Amino acid sequence: SPQSKSPVIKPINKGVVHRICSGQVILDLSSAVKELVENSLDAGATSIEIALKEYGEEWFQVIDNGCGISPANFKVVALKHHTSKLADFPDLESLTTFGFRGEALSSLCALGNLTIETRTKNEPVATHLTFDHSGLLIAEKKTARQIGTTVTVKKLFSNLPVRSKEFHRNIRKEYGKLISLLNAYALTAKGARLVCSNTSGKNLKSVVIKTQGSGSLKDSIIQVFGMNMFNCLEPMSICISDDCKIEGFLSKSGQGSGRSMGDRQYFFVNGRPVDMPKVSKLVNEIYKGANSKQYPVAIMNFIIPTRACDVNVTPDKRKVFFSDESLILQSLREGLQQIYSSSNASYIVNGVD
Ligand code: ADP
Ligand code: MG
Repeated sequence: SPQSKSPVIKPINKGVVHRICSGQVILDLSSAVKELVENSLDAGATSIEIALKEYGEEWFQVIDNGCGISPANFKVVALKHHTSKLADFPDLESLTTFGFRGEALSSLCALGNLTIETRTKNEPVATHLTFDHSGLLIAEKKTARQIGTTVTVKKLFSNLPVRSKEFHRNIRKEYGKLISLLNAYALTAKGARLVCSNTSGKNLKSVVIKTQGSGSLKDSIIQVFGMNMFNCLEPMSICISDDCKIEGFLSKSGQGSGRSMGDRQYFFVNGRPVDMPKVSKLVNEIYKGANSKQYPVAIMNFIIPTRACDVNVTPDKRKVFFSDESLILQSLREGLQQIYSSSNASYIVNGVD
């Protein structure tokens, strides 16, 4: 009522603030694992192993053979906004790493129990590090390990009651989403071997993804989806301008093999997996004109100068802004129309004036 006293404004407890903000960076199981896989790729790993216990409900772990973390960084590695990748704002324009905000490890500390085992080429042995919920290093001991890093997260979301309940109720769905996302990284991680396994109950460890990281997108598609699926695809290329193009693979017009709308559609910007609902809609719409009975598979990498796109839009970095989105969509529309016009046999479209 107008008579009631104006309430006192007080600061929220720091730990609570950290937990609330972290819940926006780490939305679910797949965003948690995604951050760790991206860190491994940023560390130059050529082998990345993702291990899950009970579909990630108990714990998950990402094991890499990357550069490792040097002892000088142990104390700060899990502190919020501490990163080795970005120092100043202009750096954002020329970013080539997946990470840049120094939020992932700090957020994972806030939402679960985080430990790291790591060793650089300069250390004779590895170190096992334990962090508390605020990202402080609380224990350190020597251990045996090859060069590289293992990050383990136990009991994710155990201190966010609502999220935790959702997580446990939807664990199979969360797991499915994670596998689909890891497929995207398996497709894009050229030169990195990717293995994902899950251990559940008394069952043995079962391997769910395994790629060799041989270097070509074609080989990755065959390893992730199989030869039969690959045979239904055609390489595509659409030129947008001198330094912009779209490259990848698309379903042949008579051989769509997505099981539903949006299934098996993977979009990348300069190799970074992203969500592109407008692009997906456009591909489905134009494909429908050529084949109304099936859904198209689409694997497309948008090669765009880093100064012309912004991935710092949402905390999970799945959304991108382009400085000239309408040109990109228009070129894509015309390119796809040319590809799927009945008289056309080639999926290579050069320049749309
Ligand atoms: P960001 O990736 O945005 O820098 P993170 O919180 O994900 O932030 O990681 C913080 C820092 O920890 C990174 O900048 C990197 O220096 C180091 N780091 C994290 N994971 C690894 C890894 N697997 N191998 C080597 N260094 C790592
Ligand atoms: Mg990171």
